[in-house]
Amino acid sequence: DLVPLRRALISVSDKTGLIDFAKALDARGVALLSTGGTAKAIRDAGLPVTDVAEVTGFPEMMDGRVKTLHPMVHGGLLALRDNDDHVAAMQEHGINAIDLLVVNLYPFEETVAKGADYDTCIENIDIGGPAMIRAAAKNHGFVNVVVDVEDYGAVLAELDANDGQTSLGFRQKLAQNAYARTAAYDAAVSNWMADAINVEAPRRRAFAGTISQTLRYGENPHQSAAFYTDGSARPGVSTAQQHQGKELSYNNINDTDAAFELVAEFDPTDTAACAIIKHANPCGVAKGASLTEAYKAAFDCDQTSAFGGIVALNQPLDADTAREISQIFTEVVIAPGASDEAKEIFAAKKNLRLLTTDGLPDVLAGSNTVRQVAGGLLVQDKDAGFVGMDDLKVVTKKAPTEEQMRDLLFAWKVAKHVKSNAIVYVKDQATVGVGAGQMSRVDSALIAAKKAERMAEALGLPAPLTQGSAVASDAFFPFPDGLLEAAAAGATSVIQPGGSMRDKEVIEAADEAGLAMVMTGMRHFRH
Ligand code: 5GP
Repeated sequence: DLVPLRRALISVSDKTGLIDFAKALDARGVALLSTGGTAKAIRDAGLPVTDVAEVTGFPEMMDGRVKTLHPMVHGGLLALRDNDDHVAAMQEHGINAIDLLVVNLYPFEETVAKGADYDTCIENIDIGGPAMIRAAAKNHGFVNVVVDVEDYGAVLAELDANDGQTSLGFRQKLAQNAYARTAAYDAAVSNWMADAINVEAPRRRAFAGTISQTLRYGENPHQSAAFYTDGSARPGVSTAQQHQGKELSYNNINDTDAAFELVAEFDPTDTAACAIIKHANPCGVAKGASLTEAYKAAFDCDQTSAFGGIVALNQPLDADTAREISQIFTEVVIAPGASDEAKEIFAAKKNLRLLTTDGLPDVLAGSNTVRQVAGGLLVQDKDAGFVGMDDLKVVTKKAPTEEQMRDLLFAWKVAKHVKSNAIVYVKDQATVGVGAGQMSRVDSALIAAKKAERMAEALGLPAPLTQGSAVASDAFFPFPDGLLEAAAAGATSVIQPGGSMRDKEVIEAADEAGLAMVMTGMRHFRH
């Protein structure tokens, strides 16, 4: 299954490493064939190269839309070398075999990420490249196909190990990778178009991504893992710049994403806000007069859990806040920017990763979330649900005060980002107890209250901060029991979707307990 490599076609947009690779191929006696810009670069480096236009007998035309789409090229890639008919056809038409195809495509994803206009994006859809990649990959019995600059070295090593030949196993791996690339490319085009022409809920979405990072391991050390990006340019963990510290882990990426999506709920032009995340759930969220105040208040919700957490800020990190965060061990800090002084303060903390972005995620923008189940993918719109003051219905005799209303809406925004069943107690626009992910709503209410008691002890407070708090429930109370637990913890106002068969009972219980309760009509399950 070893086949010699005599002739290569190179056509690359990203010319990184091109000249070294071309030199190495030339030195091994491989004849080079190439398209316009690539051929020029190779020729300028003083290497012999034949233009594809010379082989096809056609000039590159229509702004490069048609360069390599020709039987002289595709015949050379697709012909089966051990098939008499194919060989006869090659001879009849003067087609020479191409044994190695090196292509990287027009930078479609990067063009979209730069915010280019519609026509520019369209012009950056590569046609001849994917056609050649698919042809070469299909014919991997004889042809090597390289789509990643990183694989240049592996090709040379393979040639050197096999006396100028490559093995079938090697070519199969290249082909498999090549099809992953063309699939991701077309998925990026289709998904960009869905956005560009405003397809409401793209029912025929393609799912593919490009590997951007091989991770050390997955959720656990015995699981291998990787990070794929989908070509979209949303501010977040995939596009953030990392300033220091070791590579992010699988769990770091997941938690950082959760943290940034949560803190983006709070308009940075309104107030500073901070979210501290552990295991994808918030252990403290707060607004504050400054970022430092917001961080401190978020930290005071659950100081124990905040250790080793992920901190997300809705404004650029400043020096004071950096100093404050440095007091304890924090895994990752993500913010829409950071001052030089703040960066210097963090530089002393070798294990802390600082990520900065160009802005916050748009929490109301439509997009999809995807989850894998056995045999398929579950796809849904991202939960971009929003509840404003006008959507709320007061259902109790007591109406919330202005202050309570403010805290209720804050609690509601946080509850959207807490795994169900979610119960969130809030006082003065800071969480004071978060109950997450319990199978019973009563338990979530109890756990959050218990945490608040523990924090009161630690902080030397006379009473837990749940006293006089606003409480949010991500879904309705099916019975009065969960609500009564919250009241027992000291909550005086409640926000919940409503819609239970027993709403009447729940409202009566709220009235009896002297609570002010509002209903949103919208639920925020998160599993
Ligand atoms: P060059 O810089 O060599 O002029 O162009 C290289 C790029 O052209 C590569 O990204 C390659 O995938 C792309 N390409 C090669 N053949 C064709 C073709 O026939 N049509 C289009 N649209 N792109 C091509």
